[in-house]
Amino acid sequence: MHGLSGTGLEPGFPAPWWAAAPLAEAATHADLPLRASELKRAGGYLEGRPREDFVAGRILVRVLAAGLLNRALPPRRRILPGELELTQYCPQCASTAHGTPSLGLPGAGDSFTLSYARTAGWLLLGLAPGTDRLGVDLADLDDRAFAPGDGGMLEDYAYAPEERAQLELLPEPERQRLRARWWALKEAVAKAGGEGLAGEGGIPAVAGKNRHPLLGSPGIRVLDLEPESIDSLGTMLPAHLVGSIVWAPTA
Ligand SMILES: [Zn+2]
Repeated sequence: MHGLSGTGLEPGFPAPWWAAAPLAEAATHADLPLRASELKRAGGYLEGRPREDFVAGRILVRVLAAGLLNRALPPRRRILPGELELTQYCPQCASTAHGTPSLGLPGAGDSFTLSYARTAGWLLLGLAPGTDRLGVDLADLDDRAFAPGDGGMLEDYAYAPEERAQLELLPEPERQRLRARWWALKEAVAKAGGEGLAGEGGIPAVAGKNRHPLLGSPGIRVLDLEPESIDSLGTMLPAHLVGSIVWAPTA
């Protein structure tokens, strides 16, 4: 397992590319229409904040993906957010209403793997070429779930025995911070592995000898996003968010 640092996107810099934005920024792209299938899915969310956040997320996924593609790819032509096709496929049940997302550029034949997460009013997007496996997640350091007290309950069910042993050695607030960082990594691994947190293997372990096999696979890259990390487009993550990007290039 190798760590990556830096934000990259210079020519030749390896994927994954990543970008973040506050969901509120979607309001400045109100002219960007969602597809009929997305509007139908939006209707399945509770009216108000949950539905608004879903819609804002789908808008920003296209805006950020277009921004990254325009920076990362050779300048053939300018890619507009509205032309990007966002599809999902579930390898377990073959559904296209949920599952691993991918991004297509109609007519160009190019496809990209993407992963995104919404946390505490922010969207994080990761993008990689082809059919690489990719998972991203954001965690809020201020989330009570990671705090002393509530954090202990989370530890009991979400962390493996070896992870708990490591956490117990740390003083708060380092323990709180590691809970949050590992939670983001667990989500990212579950997404990159394609099985999700409710998958067969349960919540993936990310430390110790029983850690998820993906983390030991050849070519795997893990990028820890510290608070105030700068994304590939120049946006700074807020001071209360940490993130994780797991990328497994296909051979
Ligand atoms: Zn499914």
